[in-house]
Amino acid sequence: MAETEVVSPGLWLVATPIGNMGDMTSRAQEVLQAANVVCCEDTRRSGRLLAAISATPERLIVVNEHTEHDAIDTVADLVTSGNVVALISDAGTPAISDPGERLVRAMIERSLPVWSAPGPSALIAAVIVSGFPTDRFVFEGFLPRMGAERRERLAEVARERRTCVLYEAPHRIERTLLELAGACGDERRVCLTRELTKMHEELWRGTLAEAVAHVQSTEPRGEYVLVLDTVASMTLDVSDDDIVRALSDRRDLGLSTRDSVDEVATVLNVSRKRVYDLATSTDKPGANSTKKRKT
Ligand code: SAM
Repeated sequence: MAETEVVSPGLWLVATPIGNMGDMTSRAQEVLQAANVVCCEDTRRSGRLLAAISATPERLIVVNEHTEHDAIDTVADLVTSGNVVALISDAGTPAISDPGERLVRAMIERSLPVWSAPGPSALIAAVIVSGFPTDRFVFEGFLPRMGAERRERLAEVARERRTCVLYEAPHRIERTLLELAGACGDERRVCLTRELTKMHEELWRGTLAEAVAHVQSTEPRGEYVLVLDTVASMTLDVSDDDIVRALSDRRDLGLSTRDSVDEVATVLNVSRKRVYDLATSTDKPGANSTKKRKT
């Protein structure tokens, strides 16, 4: 959409600031000013934002994780009859750990137009300031809260070879860092970003073990994004004892020898052959040399 172009009817996913109102794009403002209907998570919060940019939609529809499914038919009808329907979330980019994905899919299934007015997202802001590889990265969003799902996801994160981005709330940050350290190893590097674009923005870099101590020493406040460095950048001296211990932890969790070997090789960034040899020779006397080496 060029500056002079009219805003086409359809469902518009509009990004809004993650803290700093200066990050509101002029295109986002144009779309919201043109929108007949705005879907938002919280009408009071979004009402303030809309008032600040003099956007006066005829109607606000609450679309949150509970109501998104029920809103599909209403939004589809509105779009079919030629309305500009904008979807915003409380902050950042809709459909990124926020409502939107189901609505988008439903519009596509009905061959209705979907447009975007891109802009701020905590995901991109955090990954670009982390200093870790940005050529390939994975977004994990929020980890499942508990149980087997959480354990499996932590194991997946530990096996992941690319930079990994996670969202977390302040009251869960310490536990998540502790569990990440357990799964990925104390020495994996992490960039903790907090309150991005806001007055008390904080960027902190160190190992997972240091990150645990860091959040324990301060009162965790505000919103966090954790960016985990790639395994490949770890240059640890790993002893055979470290490997045998990690293998034993995996076996205790019920993993097969093969899966344990794969996971330990990835997490400790050592060759699979070395781990396999240790896994299959742990019964042999003298097999567990504590010699440190860097393979
Ligand atoms: N859709 C949003 C986006 O594009 O970033 C994310 C919404 S999600 C419900 C909220 C989470 O995003 C927070 O718990 C935090 O992990 C992250 N987040 C949002 N704003 C942030 C900020 N200013 N600084 C750090 N993290 C932020």
